[in-house]
Amino acid sequence: MRANTTTTTCINPATGETIGESPLHSVEDLKTAVESARKAQAEWAAWPVKKRVKALKPVLRYLVNEADALSEMITKDNGKTRVDAMATEVLPAAVALKYYMKHSKKFLKPRSTGCGTWVLAHKRSKIHRVPFGVIGIISPWNYPFAIPFSEVVMALLSGNAVILKTASQTQMVGLALEKSIRAASLPEGLFSFINMSGRDAGKAFLENRIDKLFFTGSVNAGKWLMNKASETLTPVVLELGGNDAMLVCPDADLNRAASGAVWAGLSNAGQSCGGVERVYVHQDVYDGFLEILKKKVEALRVDNGMNFDADMAAMTTKSQIDAVNAHIDDAVKKGAAVFVQSNVPTDEKLENFIPATVLTGVNHDMDVMKEETFGPVMGVMKVSNMEEAVQLANDSDLGLTGSVWSRSRKNAKAIAKQVRAGAVTINDHLMSHGLPETPWGGFNQSSLGRSHGKIGFDEMTEPQVIVNDVLPFARRNMWWQPYSEKIYKGLKGLMEFLYSPKFGRRLSGMGRLLKILPGFFKRK
Ligand code: NAP
Repeated sequence: MRANTTTTTCINPATGETIGESPLHSVEDLKTAVESARKAQAEWAAWPVKKRVKALKPVLRYLVNEADALSEMITKDNGKTRVDAMATEVLPAAVALKYYMKHSKKFLKPRSTGCGTWVLAHKRSKIHRVPFGVIGIISPWNYPFAIPFSEVVMALLSGNAVILKTASQTQMVGLALEKSIRAASLPEGLFSFINMSGRDAGKAFLENRIDKLFFTGSVNAGKWLMNKASETLTPVVLELGGNDAMLVCPDADLNRAASGAVWAGLSNAGQSCGGVERVYVHQDVYDGFLEILKKKVEALRVDNGMNFDADMAAMTTKSQIDAVNAHIDDAVKKGAAVFVQSNVPTDEKLENFIPATVLTGVNHDMDVMKEETFGPVMGVMKVSNMEEAVQLANDSDLGLTGSVWSRSRKNAKAIAKQVRAGAVTINDHLMSHGLPETPWGGFNQSSLGRSHGKIGFDEMTEPQVIVNDVLPFARRNMWWQPYSEKIYKGLKGLMEFLYSPKFGRRLSGMGRLLKILPGFFKRK
């Protein structure tokens, strides 16, 4: 990626080839987009949900027809393999769209609150879901298609307008995503795609009064945005970093666990917020696990992602390579050993490849275990029992996802509940981002709010309660003016009648309540 004053030039990180240009937008453009979005949203929100779903249906057809072109563009712009592009970006986008189209009517249906106390049973409340208005979405380069796609779809189906800003690094995917959404029949101005640098966009979104911001990216940028959003009290959902732990129990299927570690730790060249970064293995199976892991890492075919047989491909940015190497250097300096590394391509024309690396002899004084590495590196630690594994897994400021590997589901579930992370998978890792029904988001500094699933969908709307008095003959409430001691005693009587443990007090309470009840039906 290179930016001049008018365009961003997009470069394939694996080959250095220029793959396209994306025009840059100004703050004025953003202002116009917000104004148009606001006008279009008023019309869009008035459409029945069914009509909104119908408007988005062509997008699914578009994804199916253009799957090859989309996955190819993702590979060229981000560097990942074609299989990663299909498995973790294009396919999950289609699954998510279908899921939200199917369920949005149900998710948006007004819901009765039920009755809190029979005394006020005539006050019937229903919660309606009201769209925020204009939703701003800012997304990262590691899953440049799937992450923003499902947020755009959820926001639109729930009646909002959307302004999308995707990462500068992967603008060609941003443009491809824009084209996918344009397959829908949306009111003019309802959806806009903006190419601005991150901080400029964040500032401009918030200063131009979008109604809610969905941000996915680094913890630091998330903190900056939350601070900025406090000026206007704009609500934010923040999906931030991860430093995820994998816990391997003594009864784990070691072959499955090692394969899972390779996929969840090394696919996308390890640039996954919810990827395996730390592995805690019970001492009884530590050597066996490492032996299998070694074979699998050595067998990895690291190559240009355009080659369908590549198991791992290029890193997306040089700065991320520097960050990863700094973590490895820090660990080695503090006593860690490089246990195994994969090969890297020998073709000198290829760039930005680093070997998949497994470190042993690691501890929590090392950056690789305490901070997010965001690259194809895993630190593996031996633990004497699973309590120790849980304690180490929870020794982090982050808590996005985690996993427990055991043949006993009961055991694994009990351990999973102790891991401080937003999603814990059993005998699997990372893939729950692709399950549209499961909420995505973490504990600690990993997230604020959730995306995906009904909980994520609810983030797109505000709850509005409408309280309706269904007693037509009641002229007033018991507690309205004019006040008197009789009213006070009647209300206290009501409380005693309802909740006093003593039968006598309940009876006398009822007596005092009955004295004020007629006032309920009198015009005063
Ligand atoms: P980043 O620097 O925070 O960038 C992410 C996005 O935010 C980009 O579009 C970027 O724009 C923009 N941005 C940067 N600074 C901003 C600011 N001050 N205000 C508003 N927008 C800003 O993050 P990254 O390094 O690209 O992405 C990797 C991080 O994202 C990792 O920490 C990873 O764990 C996290 N992540 C989290 C999830 C999750 O679901 N929890 C998913 C994926 C990634 P520019 O590209 O123009 O700079």
